[in-house]
Parts: sequence; structure tokens; C-alpha cells
Amino acid sequence: MSQALPATIPASLFEQRADAIADAARELSVLGWTPATSSNFSMRVDADHAAITISGRHKGRLGRDDIMLIDLDGNAVGTDARPSAETALHTQVYRRWPEMNAVLHTHSRTQSVASRLFAADGAVRLQGWELQKAITGYHTHESVLEIPVFPNTQHMPELVARVDAWLDAGKPLHAYLIDGHGIYTWGRDMAETQRHLEALEFLLDCELDLKKLRAS
Ligand SMILES: [Zn+2]
Repeated sequence: MSQALPATIPASLFEQRADAIADAARELSVLGWTPATSSNFSMRVDADHAAITISGRHKGRLGRDDIMLIDLDGNAVGTDARPSAETALHTQVYRRWPEMNAVLHTHSRTQSVASRLFAADGAVRLQGWELQKAITGYHTHESVLEIPVFPNTQHMPELVARVDAWLDAGKPLHAYLIDGHGIYTWGRDMAETQRHLEALEFLLDCELDLKKLRAS
């Protein structure tokens, strides 16, 4: 492994995180949500570090060597590998919420189409779906689950600023879409994050079907 670790991080801890990321990536790849080496995944390692997928690798075939250590400013630690281009969106989650430990970002067909369709509204407003309760903190289908859609850009500080502005306005945030691009969601552990992602995919699929059927 070309990953050298700081003395404070045991190899077993990094390997546990790398394996959890690779396992999740394999499952999401089988579902077709990570086409053509897109998507990126991370897990917090400690208060100052996260493990993240190395840029450009096929997400269905990740091993420990495809995961690298970064600090929460997005710098590579103990390796000359290049982290995902969107690393700043992962570290933003870990910096804002000390209790969050995993971030998943995928590019499924449903996420991509929904992001285009709802971009003009600036958000997808989900209400009336039982599965909203799969999102931590939601206890009834009657609540409104708002998923913002931010404009796509290759300039990450712009996206980071949009997420910050949403949060600084006091609005709840469990996930966001990026127009024509995909979705970001997070959680306290990998299982919760996977549940969020799966529920959001299902809910977006339902919204798209409903739109189609109502239009026909
Ligand atoms: Zn992406």
C-alpha cells in the first residue's frame, strides 16, 4: 500500500474505513449509480482526517489501494495520490457536523434526470411519501423534505458556498442534488448514509413517475 499513515491512525482503522467504502461502492456500482468511473465516497477516520476514493477509479472494483487519506482541508496525507475533484464537498460535511461519518455521492440516471427537471424550482419538495421516514429526523409522511438543486460548476468553492448559504439560512439539509450531475447525502455511519441514498433514489423515482403520469 502506498498510503503512509500518521502515527495517530492505526492501520486497522484506515483499512476498516477503506473496506467499508469499497463494499458500499461495489453495491452502488451494481445498481448502475456510478457510471463510467463517476461518483465518490468517503468516511471520517478521526476528528481531522477522512478516507476518500482516489480520482478516476472504477467504483465496482475498488480495493484498499483505491482509497486515500486526506485532512479536512482536502489535502492528501501520506500519499501522492489525487483525491476526487469534489473532495471539498465531502470535507465540508465533516467540518460542519462532527457527528457525520460517511458521505456518498452518486450519479444515477434518476438523480441526473430529477436534477435537470427540478433545477428551475431550486429544490425538490417531497411530501406524502411514507419513505421520507427513512431520513433521520423525519417521523411522518406529512412533513416536507426539501432537497435543494444547486447549479453545476467545476469550481468547487462555488458549490461549497451554496451549501453554506443554505445551512446558514437555517434550513435543514440531509442531501442535495447538483443540476445535471448527481446527489450528495451523508449520515452518522455508512449504513445510515446508504439508507438515505436508497430512500432518496426511490423518492425521486416516484416523483418522476408521478410527473410523467400526470402529464399523460
Ligand atoms: Zn460528481
